[in-house]
Amino acid sequence: MTKARCLTEFAGLAPLRSTQLPRTSKSFMNPPELDEPLATLPGVGPTLAAAAKKIGIETLGDLIFHFPSRHEDFTSQKQIGELKLGEEATVRCMVQKVALQRTRRRSLRLVKAMVKDETGYMEAVWYNQDYLAGQLTAGDELLLRGTYEGAGGSIYKVRSHEVLAKRGSGPDASEGLQGGAVPRDAGGLTPVAGLHTTGFVPIYPTTEKISVKRLRGWLGRVRPLAARLADPLPSALRAELMLPLRPDAITAMHFPRSAQDFRTAEGRLIFEELYLMQVGLLSHRQRFRKKRQGMALREVGGLTKDFVRSLPFKLTDDQFRVCEEISTDLRGEAPMQRLLQGDVGSGKTVVAVYAMLRAVEDGRQAALMAPTEVLAEQHYYSLEQMLGTLGVRVAFMSSRLKTAERKALLHALAAGEIDIAVGTHALIQKDVTFRQLAVVVVDEQHRFGVRQRDELADKATRKGVTPHVLHMTATPIPRTLALTLYGDLDVSTISSLPAGRQRIRTWLVPEVKRSGAYGFIREQLDAGRQCFVVCPLIEESEALEAKAVESEAERLAGSEFAGYRVAVLHGQMPSRAKQETMGRFAAGEVQVLVTTTVIEVGVDVPNATVMLVEEADRFGLAQLHQLRGRVGRGEHESCCLLFGDPKTDSGEQRLSAMTTTADGFALADIDLEIRGEGQLFGARQSGLPDLRLARLARDQEVLKLAREKAFELVETDPELKRPENALLRDEVERVFGDSIEWLRRA
Ligand code: ADP
Ligand code: MG
Repeated sequence: MTKARCLTEFAGLAPLRSTQLPRTSKSFMNPPELDEPLATLPGVGPTLAAAAKKIGIETLGDLIFHFPSRHEDFTSQKQIGELKLGEEATVRCMVQKVALQRTRRRSLRLVKAMVKDETGYMEAVWYNQDYLAGQLTAGDELLLRGTYEGAGGSIYKVRSHEVLAKRGSGPDASEGLQGGAVPRDAGGLTPVAGLHTTGFVPIYPTTEKISVKRLRGWLGRVRPLAARLADPLPSALRAELMLPLRPDAITAMHFPRSAQDFRTAEGRLIFEELYLMQVGLLSHRQRFRKKRQGMALREVGGLTKDFVRSLPFKLTDDQFRVCEEISTDLRGEAPMQRLLQGDVGSGKTVVAVYAMLRAVEDGRQAALMAPTEVLAEQHYYSLEQMLGTLGVRVAFMSSRLKTAERKALLHALAAGEIDIAVGTHALIQKDVTFRQLAVVVVDEQHRFGVRQRDELADKATRKGVTPHVLHMTATPIPRTLALTLYGDLDVSTISSLPAGRQRIRTWLVPEVKRSGAYGFIREQLDAGRQCFVVCPLIEESEALEAKAVESEAERLAGSEFAGYRVAVLHGQMPSRAKQETMGRFAAGEVQVLVTTTVIEVGVDVPNATVMLVEEADRFGLAQLHQLRGRVGRGEHESCCLLFGDPKTDSGEQRLSAMTTTADGFALADIDLEIRGEGQLFGARQSGLPDLRLARLARDQEVLKLAREKAFELVETDPELKRPENALLRDEVERVFGDSIEWLRRA
């Protein structure tokens, strides 16, 4: 019953259409007029076309998809005799006489028209629209929207009006129409009556050149075209979810009959948007798997078990579960493409080692790649420590190797004398060959999109065999965003930290307490601890940033931290110097490290207990959380001191979230809410497609449903080759093809 109602009584359009199946093949195609330029509409010249282009409207199709920001409810319609004081209503009436009236206040001029219908008379009033006095004439038929008020006799204040017919409607009259009483674009062809005064009237974001009345006029014209749109959603799915047809939904977005109409329409289009995106991502994933041959590894063997037993701690439940998930992937023929996300310090490295050992115990090799040399070297040392006693051969491919050393290393890799190689992306460049590379782990890979992931797989592919890849990220991203950014990957999450972690206390320090903060840090240093000082972010130039770091270090060394060992670390230093400084800090020789965000990821110095961030309001939440994750990694209680004077509400919200929330995932959700997905990631850079209506923070449930349904579809028709999915495939390509194509191109 509900189903029938929903499908047939929606948006006042073509009732029963959706049940009139089968449709002719023609109805599966979008009308070709969609691609026609806006200028095909009467009254749209080059100036207007250019102005429209600025807001993204070039074709009639663009226009149809230019949705209103809200509606005004102009549904109530009354006759003059029925109007009550204070009531707002739409009235259809005829002009008796018109007069322009000046008032004592210079800024206020009134146009007054005596209007009537068969139930009575009233005086309609416009404020400061003098030109109307010349345009309205006795006998004109009007639709008025306004409020009936008592002040100074009974008057009707007009909010919006339209001329339905001019008296006589001769050539003079149409002049009048063109003149502005009704917007120019509503002249010429049959204007759509009631667009501005009846029903739910759409409010569009406007520009100086393109008024809301103009947009309404245009949309009123293309409405019949919208009604001929094809529907990319499979009809079975539409029926199952009780979604209206696309043409009906689009029409109802502009001209709903009720608030519910609009919500239903919007719901359908949000679902469609997310569904198309998920279908795009999942079919990409499917093609990837089909195209590539992986290496099925044997069951878990002795080496992995020994490793787990050798650890000084027990795996957390999350670590254990993720290891299982990975194991299952590794046994499969398709190459693994899995994202492991886990907050800073959640213990991803152990999981990575587990995955790599699965390759080693099968007689194959693994590679661990990090985005920077500093991080790669750290990984190398911790792997040595963990695996030394197990007889696993680990090598570090540093960029500092001498030619002969490098040659020897390459030879050993090719001969299979090395089990695990650690390095940067240089590890999988052309001249590096492995005997049998089965597992690749990519640490901190969160800044990369679909394209780079495919590229990585391409590079690692040898003799047609693609290794399993585990991507790891410590930038917790909300699940919804993960599903869009990493929709082509399987995602594993470690959400709980190992037991017994030190809580990191975070304070927002007011400027007046600055010297007190330094005093506190000196106490920590005297107790043998170490400290990071992160200087303000200077996005324009790394050189400026480096300078700021150096001068701050100088200042501190000469004042607050005189007598302590202070060093600098920034992106402009040669990598050798960076390495050396990090080494001295890790060894405790340096007590205060003044730095930029180069230390944002991975750095692991358990003795560091204070993270001081200058101008913290300029950093993103994820970044602050990452920075904070550099302390609290050992047995000592740690803290994070944030300086900064937020100049915006969102800056303030971010900083206060930092002080109250320790959980990276919760922070990520807050960040998404504060900033919206557009700003979280540069859309292009990250491969996040533009979303027109859907908002990830708000539409999580819809996204889940869309993903579920996309999975079902891709299972049965992986490449969307079935005729009933042809339109869907076209639409996916049209809407997201660009981003997916772009992402795939090298
Ligand atoms: P991240 O996920 O940030 O890369 P790491 O893998 O570097 O975190 O782990 C952080 C610290 O936690 C390391 O010192 C590691 O030895 C320790 N650790 C990892 N797993 C556990 C566990 N299950 N119990 C206790 N400590 C753990
Ligand atoms: Mg790590």
